[in-house]
Amino acid sequence: MELDFSEYPVIDHHSHPWSRETIEITKQLYISIMNMGGLSADEAKDPENVAHSEFTPMGRQIMHLLAVFLGCSPNLSSVIEARNKRSRRDYSRYCEDLFEDANIEGLFVDDGYSEVSVASSLEKRDFEEFEKISPVPVRRVARIEPRFQAAVDQSKDFEDFVNKFDNAIAFAARDQKAIAFKTVIAYRSGLHVEKPIEESVRQDYAISKATRRRDVKHIRDWYVRRVISRCPELRTAFHAHCGMGDVDVVFDRCNPSQLYELLKDQDTWRTKIFLIHGGYPFSQEAAFFANALKNVYVDLSEMIPFASIPGAMDKTLHILDLAPPARVVFGSDGIVIPEVHWAGAKIGRQVLEGVLAKFVETEVYDEDEAHRAANMILSENARRVYRPW
Ligand SMILES: [Zn+2]
Repeated sequence: MELDFSEYPVIDHHSHPWSRETIEITKQLYISIMNMGGLSADEAKDPENVAHSEFTPMGRQIMHLLAVFLGCSPNLSSVIEARNKRSRRDYSRYCEDLFEDANIEGLFVDDGYSEVSVASSLEKRDFEEFEKISPVPVRRVARIEPRFQAAVDQSKDFEDFVNKFDNAIAFAARDQKAIAFKTVIAYRSGLHVEKPIEESVRQDYAISKATRRRDVKHIRDWYVRRVISRCPELRTAFHAHCGMGDVDVVFDRCNPSQLYELLKDQDTWRTKIFLIHGGYPFSQEAAFFANALKNVYVDLSEMIPFASIPGAMDKTLHILDLAPPARVVFGSDGIVIPEVHWAGAKIGRQVLEGVLAKFVETEVYDEDEAHRAANMILSENARRVYRPW
């Protein structure tokens, strides 16, 4: 059974900006993106680290795809050389060619950066600058944590903080045209969001103001609930990072099952909530929510293309065995260089072709239904839910 989904465009539901500085890339930069911890300039001098990073499944599968796209031999030095030759000649054109090749319609871009000190930090990149260099339309996903920390830092007391925070959220939705808010609370205090009492929230405000600590759980739980409750009026969706990421994640509190108290609370049911990264590797837990609750969706980013293609097929099967295709969206978590977004779209189709072929073979779906499911996941759901452009 062979399926071909190349005709369906992709809307990338979760990605990050890259910068013009990547007109030229080094082998070292390439391999430093291909593992979850990254490699510092010093670490990259150790041959043991290079051997580790050079052969991650992610690094290899993207390199093999690039060798075909660039028409060169499948080794990293040749690929980097051929890539730089083309991107140096005309960088915009090169990015356009990549996005046309992968049939990418548009990107939803997380505008976040690391607002507190963490081991593996995400650099601040200007969303407006990125809009100018992106070959396709982009829409902003406003990260809550930098807006929260700015409101804490700039406020004179708790009331002033609440006011500043509320204004920043309204500004992101109305003036910065964000289509969703995203929380990385899984990297700060964990996903077990409770209902804090006001006194504890005020205490955490004072602690956060004095220390900018990550683990101020009460006030973080407070802002997650506050933003979710405002999403319908602001016409935005809500995104929650779930599952693995870099090493800073609160590992024993990043499984989407930790969201149970929050998601079963009817106060959250009017907001469309997207579990980002499919909760990888805890994919079945994420899928359960997307089946049992009418407002919960699963996004496939990071797993595609960070995990191996067969591994991503396995996990995507675990998602689609419970989550209806109308509640699943494609994403890449593309970062630093445009090739990750590009490879994500290509691998995303390949993964769905493999998984949905199994559904056809076992007569879960007929061939026509498998095509409809793929089209929904790759772009139709994002277009229907967000009306992004
Ligand atoms: Zn991301």
